[in-house]
Amino acid sequence: MPTGQQPQNGGQNETRTLIRFMIIALICTSLFNVFLSSFANRSVEEIPYSQFKTMVAEGQVSEVVIEEDRLLISAKPEDGTEVSFYKQPEVYYTGLVDDPELYAEMDEAGVVYYKPVDNTSPLAELLTNWVLPVLLIYAVFTLFMRSMAKRMGGGPMGMGKSNAKVYMQKETGVTFEDVAGQEEAKESLMEIVDYLHNTSKYAKVGAKLPKGALLVGPPGTGKTLLAKAVAGEAKVPFYSLSGSDFVEMFVGVGASRVRDLFKQASENAPCIIFIDEIDAIGKSRDNQMGSNDEREQTLNQLLSEMDGFDPGKGIVVLGATNRPEVLDKALLRPGRFDRRVIVDKPDLKGREQILQVHLKDVKVADDIDLHQIALATSGGAGADLANIVNEAALRAVRLGREKVQQEDFMEAVEIIIAGKEKKDRIMNEKERKIVAYHEVGHALAAALQSHSQPVQKITIVPRTMGALGYTMQMPEEERYLMSKEEILDQITTLTAGRAAEEVIFHSVTTGASNDIERATSMARSMVAQYGMSDKFGMMGLESVQNKYLDGRNVATCSEATQAKLDEEVRQIVEGAHQKAVQLLEENQEALHRIAAFLLEKETITGEEFMEILKQQ
Ligand code: ADP
Ligand code: MG
Ligand code: ZN
Repeated sequence: MPTGQQPQNGGQNETRTLIRFMIIALICTSLFNVFLSSFANRSVEEIPYSQFKTMVAEGQVSEVVIEEDRLLISAKPEDGTEVSFYKQPEVYYTGLVDDPELYAEMDEAGVVYYKPVDNTSPLAELLTNWVLPVLLIYAVFTLFMRSMAKRMGGGPMGMGKSNAKVYMQKETGVTFEDVAGQEEAKESLMEIVDYLHNTSKYAKVGAKLPKGALLVGPPGTGKTLLAKAVAGEAKVPFYSLSGSDFVEMFVGVGASRVRDLFKQASENAPCIIFIDEIDAIGKSRDNQMGSNDEREQTLNQLLSEMDGFDPGKGIVVLGATNRPEVLDKALLRPGRFDRRVIVDKPDLKGREQILQVHLKDVKVADDIDLHQIALATSGGAGADLANIVNEAALRAVRLGREKVQQEDFMEAVEIIIAGKEKKDRIMNEKERKIVAYHEVGHALAAALQSHSQPVQKITIVPRTMGALGYTMQMPEEERYLMSKEEILDQITTLTAGRAAEEVIFHSVTTGASNDIERATSMARSMVAQYGMSDKFGMMGLESVQNKYLDGRNVATCSEATQAKLDEEVRQIVEGAHQKAVQLLEENQEALHRIAAFLLEKETITGEEFMEILKQQ
């Protein structure tokens, strides 16, 4: 925790809090004193002086305390037992009467009497009755507040006394070298780095750099990593908070955190403020049923802070999100997050580079083919690749190897895609056969259609993620466009598993559910998004909602049109299915041959497959 920030943090606040403490403590103490004095007099009963005299005469009094204006009388217990802690005497008092004979009478009755010396100075009394309780209450109060503050990360009094500094990192230790395959993103961030390096150069020309940049892309592509790398490259402090850190149960905490964050940052400029998952606070304020006060306040504070700071000062605000479309328009307007840096999933070359970065500290065999791994991981993000490298290394350790081999990587890819092998699951002979024909059906259809990708591997070893067997296809090269014919071929390949079951066993199983799902969604996209049907032509029927996450589609057409869309999709899938059945029927002989081989071996490679296919 850097020193010297505490006082600025709220000298005023501190005094106000102290005064409040004092008032509460004083009230408590007065109550305490009233309570105490009433307690002291509780069991004391006033009696007439004459009764007192009688009691003395009858020997019922054990002790008399002569006070300034009264006599305090302790009676003997009635049953004659000794006075003890549990058996307190009855206490009475009576007024002072000028009665010179009293002492003689008390002496005679054996009463102990005395007049206490008043040695309590007023100062001591003040101390015990007033100061001590106040201090005690202060201590308890402070402890209580502290635990509250810890729980809420702020505290209602010192309201969100900046948590930001906890996240402050002097050096992130990450540089652009650690981020691979994001060349375009790095390029646009390079300018920010340069700006943070020599702010004055820009000031001289009068150029203003954007105050904020938004890193946008799917999860795991390295947005957080890139933000850290910018700070690392620029060698400036890095303030980072996640959007959800701002959103608290107590209204106002988030806003005050934003305020503190910017305040601290401006004291340490040049620096970077990074707000991860900014959609948590930056959600659009309209179209909401129950609006969220806390989030709105936080967002408003953020907006005004971003307007407020001096652009020449050298503060850059970076935000990261995978849902840019939900962000409030005010957040995106010029002067705020007006620059958008797309951090998309890496392409083939990018994946190879990312693998290289993560292999830096891993011992690998000499014949590692990164290109092949990159090919097999099409669609994977940086985080997936990091995961694959680690899984491969773990597997190598498990098998007692010193170096990671290519097969470890390929197995790791499969683990990520389909889960771990379940060697102990025993399928009965009939089921194994169905699975084998189903998978060979996919592979054969793929191989027979000229446009299709060749298969990489077929296996009927079940996996933990539910697959009983699968056919792994691997593209020979990265593709960015797909033609209508290619999509149709893919749909045919997907339906070929079920088609093989029909052709060979004349019955169907539940095993095709995933194929059906994928085939249908492909066909749907063809019609609704890619304009590939004759019926609708180039009319768009659906739009993608959050394209960096699950990519849910939302219909933009009327319900009547949707019904027609469904019919069109059905026809495409059904057409592909028919084609698959026909293909397999024509090549039944090959289907039997390969399936027999697969049943024997459990796993066959693409080359083995092609070899058997070519034998006649
Ligand atoms: P995001 O914030 O986009 O969801 P992260 O930046 O948190 O993703 O990335 C998670 C991890 O994935 C990183 O710590 C890093 O190990 C790895 N990673 C992701 N993208 C890359 C990349 N482009 N280069 C190297 N490693 C990456
Ligand atoms: Mg992140
Ligand atoms: Zn299948």
